[in-house]
Amino acid sequence: MGTEVSVTLWHEDAGQGRRAIDAVMEQMHRVDKQWNPEDADSELSQINIDAANGVATVSTELSLVLDKALYYSRLSGGAFDISFASVARYYNYREGIAPQPDLQSKALKAVDYRLIKLDVSRRRLHFENPDLQIDLGGIAKGYAVDRAVALLEQRGIEHASISAGGDSRLLGDRRGRPWMVGIRNPRAAEGEVALVLPLQDIAFSTSGDYERFYLDPESGERIHHIINPGTGKSAGELMSVSVLGPRGFDTDPLSTTLFVLGVERGMALVETLDDFDAIMIDADGQVHYSSGLTD
Ligand code: ADP
Ligand code: MG
Repeated sequence: MGTEVSVTLWHEDAGQGRRAIDAVMEQMHRVDKQWNPEDADSELSQINIDAANGVATVSTELSLVLDKALYYSRLSGGAFDISFASVARYYNYREGIAPQPDLQSKALKAVDYRLIKLDVSRRRLHFENPDLQIDLGGIAKGYAVDRAVALLEQRGIEHASISAGGDSRLLGDRRGRPWMVGIRNPRAAEGEVALVLPLQDIAFSTSGDYERFYLDPESGERIHHIINPGTGKSAGELMSVSVLGPRGFDTDPLSTTLFVLGVERGMALVETLDDFDAIMIDADGQVHYSSGLTD
């Protein structure tokens, strides 16, 4: 998943605590391996080939994640769209490489979630454009974090914090006190926080333009990893979005969705969702809160 995973938990028995951490890490490695787009043998790589050429059969687990991804695509009018990868596959953020304009416009035609045909009950998947490719980078971490929390709950653990990059889930509190969760200052050195929130029993996802990016040498523009599916280019209105809610499987895609939508449309969407709140830092560094957080 291209990020760091961390686990903090309490258990009366040190050995059982250690085994619980091992189980979480095993789960993370399993999800990473299964949906790693850079591994030609992963399930994701295989279905990308099969669904573009015909019909792919997907695992029950993948059909669940695809179904959720398509739900957020419909909810956001396509701001969240796992077919962004049809264009993003031609970017290399580490080396500062963007696709040539003709390739970019051909690839952009394949960015459209309505071309992804999923039959959940039969676990069949077909792409209606052979250039269409999907990537789960905007949803897999939140899903994995939820699965990991479920493993801890099965073991009777009541106080834990699990994070995979910008996606965290807090189980209970920090033994009598809330967990303190920071939102990074998007333009400061790593580790410097803009805000700290006391939280418990919640999922918390942050999407930022500082995770994977380069500055275009000619325009000075920040080219980063969150793509506006309408243009095939980096979404530019915000520097960071954090979403709070019950599950990472929702807060993760929502943070990416709101990042693309921007302040006005993003806040309007989150206000329609009962269990979710958002904090946005716009391009001028202004902080915006949804109504559930203004107190
Ligand atoms: P991260 O924790 O990696 O910063 P985010 O939640 O911010 O994760 O999601 C960014 C990732 O989502 C990108 O690296 C990419 O894999 C994927 N992504 C980018 N744009 C979109 C989009 N418009 N719809 C769905 N997924 C996207
Ligand atoms: Mg996300």
